[in-house]
Amino acid sequence: MDLQETKDLVYRCNKCGLCISACPVYQQLLMEAASPRGKVQLVKSYLEGGMELSPRFKEILLTCLLCENCVVNCPSGVQHDHVFTDLRTELVKTYGLNWKKRLIYKLLTNEKLLHSTSVLARLGRNWLLETFAKGMRLGNIPVERLPRVNPKPFRDRFNGLVLPEGEVRGRVYYFTGCFTNYFAEEVGQAVVNVLKRLHLEIEIPSGQDCCGVAAILSGEEEIPMKSVEKNISTLAREDLDAVLVDCATCGAAFKKEYIALLRRKGMDTSKAEILKGKTLDVLEYVAERIDLLPFRKDRNRPKIRVTYHDPCHLVRAQGVSQAPRKILKALPGVEFVEMKDANVCCGGGGSFQFDFPDVSKGITANKIKNIRETGASIVVTGCPGCRVTISGNMDESDQITVLHPIQLVDRLLSEETPEKSPQ
Ligand code: SF4
Ligand code: SF4
Repeated sequence: MDLQETKDLVYRCNKCGLCISACPVYQQLLMEAASPRGKVQLVKSYLEGGMELSPRFKEILLTCLLCENCVVNCPSGVQHDHVFTDLRTELVKTYGLNWKKRLIYKLLTNEKLLHSTSVLARLGRNWLLETFAKGMRLGNIPVERLPRVNPKPFRDRFNGLVLPEGEVRGRVYYFTGCFTNYFAEEVGQAVVNVLKRLHLEIEIPSGQDCCGVAAILSGEEEIPMKSVEKNISTLAREDLDAVLVDCATCGAAFKKEYIALLRRKGMDTSKAEILKGKTLDVLEYVAERIDLLPFRKDRNRPKIRVTYHDPCHLVRAQGVSQAPRKILKALPGVEFVEMKDANVCCGGGGSFQFDFPDVSKGITANKIKNIRETGASIVVTGCPGCRVTISGNMDESDQITVLHPIQLVDRLLSEETPEKSPQ
């Protein structure tokens, strides 16, 4: 890999320190080495030949949520996420990936295997839970609060295409991601319901591959490559109005990480650029059409207080912050309340919460405190990882439901009252 671009980025750093207080990890550890500036200087030293890769170097580089809060607070334009991902790739080449992550990424990026193991996983999860795991935790999350495996993969419910009733006003591709397909059918159903209300034909083929971004951001380039190439060749289509995603991380993969990966590997990015141009988070798409949705305006119920958490992969990786707020403000019967630091990471960071549970715990505790202070009964966020982290870390006494924003839209369209649900 040519690290010249990485070098150019780290040389932009003038050590001003403006990124430091913005870093949620630094706020927990209060160590210069854990700060964005500290990490950038560490990388600079390595690139100049002043130090070698080492297990300690690796640990410091991995103590990062890749939340990009440092990027948006850096006046010199250092793209820390770019620098850190490049170095993670170097670290994987030197030390390899730990076997658990290797196994998970191999499974995630092998759709046939994932599909065939999902039935076993559903049975096994319940059995394991009841038999052994009750009371245990994964990171900071009690195992019984982890999402349940769907009775059957969500995409298997359809024959590849969903048609609206009556007039057809467009055609979109719905990329469900692994999470909705295997764990959150209720989110997928809400997306389909709302898109049908917008009179769209929805392509939703059963065989979609994982976006692969978890592996890519760990620095693993080879395992996800087949899925990346398949997704690009399947989805970079001019005939589609849009490729819609319900997961902030899948959106970040299509709009940003695929191009960065192909560049690192010196490969052609032209088709990935087409995919980037077609990809929209479902919240962006619906926000533009919110006035077309047939909400009942004559609700005579008390307003539901709702707050919103910005996923890092939506607000910074994709620059989407207004669309979800536009939707929430337009919903009849909803009182939208901003929480403090809505755009600060929830502390999940993919596998970060399992690798560094103590650091993660403090960051998540701040997020939950800010949610509670709004007095909201519902918190919505368009990232499955954030929903798992937030709902998994709440107290039993918290009467706060965690939903995807589109679930709230769908429930209000069908005039249901949102109820407390596991996630
Ligand atoms: S990406 Fe987030 S966690 Fe990582 S150094 Fe930057 S601010 Fe800190
Ligand atoms: S804000 Fe940017 S220039 Fe300033 S210390 Fe951080 S990385 Fe360096």
